[in-house]
Amino acid sequence: MPIEVDVAVLGGGPGGYTAAVKAAQAGLSVVVIERDKLGGTCLHRGCIPSKSLLRSAEVYATIGDAASYGIQLPEGAASVDWSAMLRRKDSIVEQLYKGLQALMRQHKIEVVNGSGRIIGPSIFSPKSGAIAVELSDGEAETVVPKNVVIATGARPRKLEGLSYDGERIATSDEALAWTSRPSSILIVGGGVIGVEWASMLSDFGTQVTIVEAADRLLPTEDKDIGAEIAKLLKKRGVVIHTGVSVQTESCRLSNNGVEIQATAAGGDTVSLEAERMLVSVGRIGNVESLGLENTDVKTERGFIKINPATLQTGESHIYAIGDCIGGVQLAHAAMHEAATAIEHLTGNKPSRAADRDIPRCIYSRPEAAAIGWTEENARAEGFQVRTAKLPLRILGKALVQGESDGFAKVVADAATGDLLGVHLVGAHATELIAEASLAKLVDAIPWEIGRTIHPHPTMSEAMQETMLALGGAAGHA
Ligand code: FAD
Repeated sequence: MPIEVDVAVLGGGPGGYTAAVKAAQAGLSVVVIERDKLGGTCLHRGCIPSKSLLRSAEVYATIGDAASYGIQLPEGAASVDWSAMLRRKDSIVEQLYKGLQALMRQHKIEVVNGSGRIIGPSIFSPKSGAIAVELSDGEAETVVPKNVVIATGARPRKLEGLSYDGERIATSDEALAWTSRPSSILIVGGGVIGVEWASMLSDFGTQVTIVEAADRLLPTEDKDIGAEIAKLLKKRGVVIHTGVSVQTESCRLSNNGVEIQATAAGGDTVSLEAERMLVSVGRIGNVESLGLENTDVKTERGFIKINPATLQTGESHIYAIGDCIGGVQLAHAAMHEAATAIEHLTGNKPSRAADRDIPRCIYSRPEAAAIGWTEENARAEGFQVRTAKLPLRILGKALVQGESDGFAKVVADAATGDLLGVHLVGAHATELIAEASLAKLVDAIPWEIGRTIHPHPTMSEAMQETMLALGGAAGHA
């Protein structure tokens, strides 16, 4: 007998499980179909495991800097136990995984373990949308829903011509399972994932080289963010080549690791060698093998096409959310899209934030975070731009913490006074950006954020002071 439900969610990552919970809370019957593990990329290969390793790196770096806080340790007192760090990471993931399974039970959401494929009109339904599931145990099941939410995520984009073995040449999925720390690494791609790995491994003492084809690290962020992060990584010994592309055909595996050549636009070539190579050059949607050809769901450049306001695909009862639709590929973006889709599906008016108003976070040391327009993009859009930028070293808390690297920058519309963007580099930037996100939601102007009483001494004063600085009224700068 097929399983008949109101909503079938294809994929159990942050987008999928959030959609399932929201739909269940609205009183709908829900099935989640997941071919691997509930929690998806974020829990098993992304946000959580990578942040766990980054936290270990931060602790190690702080111990290495103990003398600057007046604490003397015997020479060589700290060492890295890579296996113990992996065990810590795995136990955090396991704890959250169990929590997620309990959440599904609590909301009476059935989880079907298998790979789902949408079928066209059939004996089960006159319209497309029934899902044939190849169960993990080899059996088959059919789910017949009134609505479908596709949340199948994305996977690492691979460069053609490289022999990935998961060890010497790896994507971020495989690198998370490395059983030892490399002594040297070549990171191809200086976006968020590349920068996070560079920060983490350099803190552990790995010799890191980053190769980025664009003219700067983190090329989609405000220029000042890429420049500051590059400056701070270089201070730690990271070698950064921007404006160069690796020539995959030149790649050689040797006993010492990997050798490859990279070429700049002008033709200059540099030879690079490292024990291992991490390729972090973007992600592509999991849109194949979903049976989309049996529907009017269309794809564009590898991602599912949606109505941006409602998240409906070419079929009004089939929605798509999360990494498989491209755009901002972050867990909280997927969760927001899940809420939006279910609002629409349940007959409510959805309100989806613009992509640029989703906070973007980089968990390097120090962190970086941003929301809204970059200064460059705002100018290109024709805004009359006013900016204020303050270094974190003006803050008492930054000095007390020994975390004074970085800055806070605000971009405002000079004509209306509206807040256009906030760009942060510094300790806890990924926490501080939430205030700017709230400001965007309630349409607060910079003066209102500056007028808000912020506790002293805290890093949050960076936000207050920079907002006030826009009007020439910062208290400490
Ligand atoms: P996914 O989490 O990818 O889940 C999709 C699920 O669908 C998977 O479990 C998959 O098995 C399943 N699936 C696919 N096809 C089928 C099928 N046919 N049948 C059944 N199941 C199927 N984001 C942040 O916000 N913060 C971070 O710190 C962060 N760090 C990251 C670090 C790394 C190294 C990486 C790779 C990503 C990181 N991300 C981070 C991004 C984040 O992980 C994704 O944006 C998020 O997981 C997307 O959620 P999703 O539900 O769209 O897809």
